[in-house]
Amino acid sequence: MVASRLHGIPPTIFAEMSALAVRTGSVNLGQGFPDEDGPETVVAAAVGALRAGANQYAPGIGVPALRRAIADHQLRHYGLELDPDTQVAVTTGCTEAVAAALLGLVEPGDEVVVLEPYYDSYLAMLQMAGGVRRPVTLRSPDFRVDLDELRAAVTPRTRFVLLNSPHNPTGTVLTRTEVEAVAALALEHDLTVITDEVYEHLVYDGSEHVPVATLPGMAERTLTLSSVGKSYSLTGWKVGWATGPAHLVSAVVAAKQWLTFTSGAPLQPAVAVALADHPDWPTALARDLQDKRDLLVSGLVAAGLPTSTPQGTYFATSDVSGLGWDDGLAFCLALPERAGVVAIPAQVFYDDPRGPGRHLVRWAFCKKRDVLAEATSRLGAADLGR
Ligand code: GLN
Repeated sequence: MVASRLHGIPPTIFAEMSALAVRTGSVNLGQGFPDEDGPETVVAAAVGALRAGANQYAPGIGVPALRRAIADHQLRHYGLELDPDTQVAVTTGCTEAVAAALLGLVEPGDEVVVLEPYYDSYLAMLQMAGGVRRPVTLRSPDFRVDLDELRAAVTPRTRFVLLNSPHNPTGTVLTRTEVEAVAALALEHDLTVITDEVYEHLVYDGSEHVPVATLPGMAERTLTLSSVGKSYSLTGWKVGWATGPAHLVSAVVAAKQWLTFTSGAPLQPAVAVALADHPDWPTALARDLQDKRDLLVSGLVAAGLPTSTPQGTYFATSDVSGLGWDDGLAFCLALPERAGVVAIPAQVFYDDPRGPGRHLVRWAFCKKRDVLAEATSRLGAADLGR
């Protein structure tokens, strides 16, 4: 019964696998959400805002204090100067920012270069907007961008690059050289870059997140999207933002007003408190996550699962082909019964389920140490062979 603009788009894998975890009582390393909340003072600020009467519609573009805090964040971390009144818009999570950006900017038939595997909402929203995706595939085990493939993806019909770094699901953090290659292409072919940087602070081993907007000539043609969810462990708040030149931000607002109209009023001042008063919180979170990454990766390897060590995000990817599986979805569906653990089959993020992602499985490590230890000990004790 669903309209053609949604044809072929399956229900989001995250809901499906979280439901499977609940149904089977499994340890859920599928959907990426932390099991410890962000700063208590930020939660208290939201409670305070609720009690103080911030309970009616916020301005569509976002409350001034939050837009100011977002502009300050971009200046503090990246040296990017933004006018909070015209170059910053608040959205209902980064997912809405992606939706509003694509609906607000992409014409039917426009080609959009996008890194594959792609976060599932990109696929759905590109299809709803009538955009045509031109994938550039990141391949295991190192998931780097093939720069020749990137250049070859651009045609005369290409108008956008939809970038994501640090990259979900692979954990790849684009190097400066890779981001420069994207920028060079954008300048040469007059492309607009839409970049999802929600994992901007979650980078490890001294690797550097290079926002594409910081490269010469790129601030004018880059729409940067992010959110509070990952950086401050507040994924359920669904507060995100879009920043960039006014003509791109206003296109986001033009679409956003017909999607959610405005975003949660009492949460916005609290997010402003997070950004303004706790600027170092995400860095401390990343330090903790780096240890958890190591705990998970070593546990997975000990359980017989070859696993790539990601430089960013809170996801690690294993190759299950050595255990006799050539289908990660079948592996993930068998896993609750075999081991009492839930993971995400990465093949659903590739165009071809039999293609380069078919044997890849994604695990989230944004969980308490004892949860990670329990999961890997269950996996170690289980028969994981096909
Ligand atoms: N971003 C989260 C993940 O990749 C999930 C978000 C969602 O469930 N839509 O796991």
